[in-house]
Amino acid sequence: MLTLEFLDRLRAELAPEDLLTDAADCYAYAYDNSRKVFPPEAVVFARSTEQVRQIIRLCHDFQVPLTPRGRGTGTAGGSLPEAGGLVLSLERMRRIVRIDAPNRVMVVEPGVLNQEVQDSARPYGFFWPPDPSSAPYCSVGGNLATSAGGPHAVKYGTTRDYVLGLTAVTGAGAVIRAGCYTTKGVVGYDLTRLLVGSEGTLAVVTEATLKLEPLPEAKGGITAYFRDIASCAQAVSAIMAQPRVPSALEFMDAGALDLIRARQPGLLPADSQAMLMIEVDGASTEIAPAAAAIIHACRNEGLVDARQVSDVAALWAARKTLSPLLRDIAPKKINEDIVVPVSRVPDLLDGLAELSRRYDITNVNFGHAGNGNIHVNWLVNPDDSAEMARAAACLDEMFTLVLHLNGTLSGEHGVGAEKRAFVPREIDAVTLQLMKEIKQVFDPRGILNPGKLFP
Ligand SMILES: Cc1cc2nc3c(=O)[nH]c(=O)nc-3n(C[C@H](O)[C@H](O)[C@H](O)COP(=O)(O)OP(=O)(O)OC[C@H]3O[C@@H](n4cnc5c(N)ncnc54)[C@H](O)[C@@H]3O)c2cc1C
Repeated sequence: MLTLEFLDRLRAELAPEDLLTDAADCYAYAYDNSRKVFPPEAVVFARSTEQVRQIIRLCHDFQVPLTPRGRGTGTAGGSLPEAGGLVLSLERMRRIVRIDAPNRVMVVEPGVLNQEVQDSARPYGFFWPPDPSSAPYCSVGGNLATSAGGPHAVKYGTTRDYVLGLTAVTGAGAVIRAGCYTTKGVVGYDLTRLLVGSEGTLAVVTEATLKLEPLPEAKGGITAYFRDIASCAQAVSAIMAQPRVPSALEFMDAGALDLIRARQPGLLPADSQAMLMIEVDGASTEIAPAAAAIIHACRNEGLVDARQVSDVAALWAARKTLSPLLRDIAPKKINEDIVVPVSRVPDLLDGLAELSRRYDITNVNFGHAGNGNIHVNWLVNPDDSAEMARAAACLDEMFTLVLHLNGTLSGEHGVGAEKRAFVPREIDAVTLQLMKEIKQVFDPRGILNPGKLFP
């Protein structure tokens, strides 16, 4: 419960419009894409690093939990104030501080949307590679905290690979500057990479120096349809084993294709049970040979058709609708974003099919096959307690399978609240203890996003 003294001190630091205390106003900050609800006791909107410092310092002194929030599109419950206290929204820190073309750098505040970064970089001939499907709605701060990625991660990597430096405020209210402005630099520990992916548990990011990449001169699209999932998985391995790296390599299984067919009849061939959507980019002279090499790698006994397509826009649009369309099948989806080495994707898909049969739960899979990062969806009815119990056991076995295949529990969504129970399966006790000690150094009173990430 927030004390009157704490609220008075907070009011003294903020403009009236930057503090919400009415329960109805605060409710808009109670949920994210995990669909869970934890209403905050108050919501504050910071406008500067100094304000973030003052707010955190107050929370530190009064031992008030503080949950940083970008735009609340996260799927792991990371921005939800489970322990009550304050939500610190960064959505009003929305300045693009600098675009520095010769150095391929953009400096932004955390509330800038991913799409705004892309739109601002484009006139200079650049882009920022992290490309979550939620780009028009999610913030750079959220991207950094979750090390977000998207279809282009197969060639370009994730957020972690495109941040040179950060300004952040620790849980003790100290302003720190991590990293540097240059693309090379080895002075001190790499706190930038430590903070990226730390899900707001160590520090609140207030400014980021982003590394930009030149826009490719040309792009080409390829679609490949397969009679069965095994041939499709085999093609993914063959594509990644040859030297031309696709700029996107997206996979859809039969369940995902049926969802698209239901909405857009005639878009996909009827006899295919799995599909790859592939993009290549580079100089215009490189597109045709790269596409030919990839089509060659797709050839196996189960291939129905693989061809270069002039316009992949309709397919990308269809792919982006998949996540919401899953609600056509069942009222609830349990959505995971597990990763396995690319060569183990066939074993993973076999295992998922077996789990789906054994536990009698509908399963739809799609995602970033080039990284082995598959969005696995278990479609359930939350009112059916027997089905929910089967789903819990199924999920448990799925994580065991992923780790057995040398994979990891989350590729881009993070642990948040949703996966923390499974963290000790992946991270051994000694390493986990070291992580807790690091948290203690950054956040001695445990006020930053309490309870998240750790089991
Ligand atoms: C339709 C849809 C599609 C999606 N597709 C993708 C995808 O392709 N790839 C992908 O990676 N994700 C995807 N996501 C998930 C989500 O969009 C990303 O995780 C995104 O990075 C979250 O950004 P946000 O601004 O909404 O952050 P929030 O959800 O508000 O917060 C996420 C985490 O970041 C922390 N945080 C936020 N700002 C800061 C800050 N300034 N300092 C410290 N911590 C902070 C929060 O505490 C929380 O732990 C998708 C979500 C939706 C709804």
